[in-house]
Amino acid sequence: MSTKNHYIGRFAPSPSGPLHFGSLIAALGSYLQAKSQQGTWLVRMEDLDPPREMPGAADDILRTLEAYGLEWDGTVIYQSQRHDAYQAQIDAWLQSREAYYCQCTRKQIKLAGGYYPGTCRDLNHRAGNSAVRLKVNTPVTHFDDELHGRIEIPASLAQEDFIIHRRDGLFAYNLAVVLDDIAQGVTEVVRGADLIEPTGRQIGLYRQLAQPEVSYLHLPLAVTENGNKLSKQNHAPAIDKANPKPALIGALIFLGMAPPAELADASLEEILRWGTDNWHVGKLPKSTAITLAF
Ligand code: GLU
Repeated sequence: MSTKNHYIGRFAPSPSGPLHFGSLIAALGSYLQAKSQQGTWLVRMEDLDPPREMPGAADDILRTLEAYGLEWDGTVIYQSQRHDAYQAQIDAWLQSREAYYCQCTRKQIKLAGGYYPGTCRDLNHRAGNSAVRLKVNTPVTHFDDELHGRIEIPASLAQEDFIIHRRDGLFAYNLAVVLDDIAQGVTEVVRGADLIEPTGRQIGLYRQLAQPEVSYLHLPLAVTENGNKLSKQNHAPAIDKANPKPALIGALIFLGMAPPAELADASLEEILRWGTDNWHVGKLPKSTAITLAF
């Protein structure tokens, strides 16, 4: 399936709560970008951080996608089932000394100016009460986003040896997302603009692994009046499984499209077909955040 020119995209929700309008934007935008190129659209459940997860949310997210007609291709991958792959890569980098154990606390890093200054690089710490950091020898200082163009990454952030395995034993998001996108043959990442910042690190991981890089499209983020991303914490309402059309049409409008009024009476399939036929990255609002009142 993953022939060179075949587009493979994905939606990768974290099951911290039910889908809200903000996550519908990421789901629909990634779906339309894939479908408009006759591509494959995968769903990956990023259940990497159990303390932040809500029991039942993963299933609820999948049922909601189905209720919205957003049918994924293939089977859903769960990051909780991928620990062996993450650990194997970390072990390989520890072995080759591309990664190392670090025992610095957050407080120490804060005192050092907010960015980790490489304190433990040559200290040969052993496992146990340690995080694992990747040595960043060639910082990624910019990348091209399909919507926003050239994105500059602040040098102090780009240069930081970043964590790939946390001190509390959890695998780092950046590592998991890149290893999974590679394993699933993803060719383009379409997601919310809140993830622009870690993209440099993710590109760094592709380079470290000598893997072909993917392209990136960061969709405008739906934010509350005080500028926060819609989330469970700020009580963004779950989208309605029983009445999907209004939110689906609202999401098309949010993504810069102008659905005709008659579409409100069409079937879900027709709405999604209209969206696929009319999707164009050039129509997307260029901003990284759009305020929604809800
Ligand atoms: N799991 C991440 C989130 O829900 C998205 C990761 C990604 O799309 O790269 O915010």
